[in-house]
Amino acid sequence: MIVLKFGGSSVADAACMGQVAELVRAALPRSPLVVLSAMGKTTNGLFDAAKTAEGGDLAGAMARQRTLMAAHRKAADELFKGAVPENLDTALTDLFGELELLLRGVALLRELSPRSMDAIASLGERLSTRVFAAFIGGAWLDARTVLRTDAGFGEAAPQPEAIRALATGHLKPLLAPGRAVVTQGYIGATEDGLTTTLGRGGSDYSAALFGAALGAEEVQIWTDVEGVLTCDPGIVPEALPIPELSFAEAAELAAFGAKVLHPATIQPAVEAGIPVTVRHTQKPEGRFTTISAEVRTGRPITALASRSPVTVLTVSSTRMLAQSGFLARLFEVFGRRGVSVDLVATAEVSVSLTVEADVPLAPLIQDLSAFATVGIHEGRAIIAAVGERLKSTPGLGARLLTALGDVNVEMISMGANEINLSLVVKQEHAAEALRRMHRVLVGGHP
Ligand code: ASP
Ligand code: MG
Repeated sequence: MIVLKFGGSSVADAACMGQVAELVRAALPRSPLVVLSAMGKTTNGLFDAAKTAEGGDLAGAMARQRTLMAAHRKAADELFKGAVPENLDTALTDLFGELELLLRGVALLRELSPRSMDAIASLGERLSTRVFAAFIGGAWLDARTVLRTDAGFGEAAPQPEAIRALATGHLKPLLAPGRAVVTQGYIGATEDGLTTTLGRGGSDYSAALFGAALGAEEVQIWTDVEGVLTCDPGIVPEALPIPELSFAEAAELAAFGAKVLHPATIQPAVEAGIPVTVRHTQKPEGRFTTISAEVRTGRPITALASRSPVTVLTVSSTRMLAQSGFLARLFEVFGRRGVSVDLVATAEVSVSLTVEADVPLAPLIQDLSAFATVGIHEGRAIIAAVGERLKSTPGLGARLLTALGDVNVEMISMGANEINLSLVVKQEHAAEALRRMHRVLVGGHP
């Protein structure tokens, strides 16, 4: 079997859902489980309605409820050309009735607990899947009967063992070639049956969890890009989809600002040895990226990412020479001040490191001044070159610096996992640095 996950933009309206239906029909021989997000920006709308109710504005909350209802009814009407089946009509009425009750409760109490918020937020996926399941003529599964979580409302932790057992009992029997089973992303339930959510954007996570529990052949994440790109196309127009990406590469890219799906969310599938593909709903025949535990990529550098602004601190101590304990003392300050450090480069008597631009510097500097002098360089960018073959490609550093030409590199750091080579440049040089590096190190290789 395979899992197909479609995000909010892929099911935003009737036309989008029609396209998704084509893709699902094409996958019918592979016993598909279809995991859907809420339609378009419905989840935002539900949060907005809930907050409005919490503020005591019941009329405002109900107006928002009606807007959401109109959008769902319109989609259903268009999909069924005016002849919405009675059971779908009833389901929509019931779900919007439930939403109204919840909003009234919140407005009366002027209290919105994470638990209430999850109950309200769950409506988005429950609605979109009702509409779609009716349209495709598939089985509808309440994800809450399978996707067991703890009671961490708002960002509940899934319980993979329980999910596997529940999937075997409730979900596996529904799967069959020629039939689509449609369920919700993002939502789950506790052992006591209380509705939970996995946190915003949680549908990818759901898809990976279902895939792992069922031992799927593949988890397909359908979205609005042709996979993961070699660089931000807004900066490097010739950026291309990456055919194969390792999980470690995806994690590095995400940490350094690439718009990759969050790797933690696909970990359950990758751990279970299931490939995850990222595909474009509107261009199903186009390119896509396969993310798996390990890949043998063809290039030393798979992709580039950058993050800015960051601040570089240069901490120098004349007493550091031949002294032990300086680094311990230095990092103790960062630890105590709760400041996380991204890159570190050490020289004989100084240490350069990067911190986020919005870190309050004054208390840090005060503590560090007790034993060192500190230089502050703001407005810098980190550029990360990521690739599994970085470590085994001789001469790469030289090529990289040659590619950069007159762009001044202020710091270089090779990640301990040896698949990330990061450098720091002035923020205003970042785009040019990315273009040059991409041309020579990424685009230049087949
Ligand atoms: N609908 C949820 C959200 O907007 C989950 C998702 O789309 O993945 O956050
Ligand atoms: Mg989403």
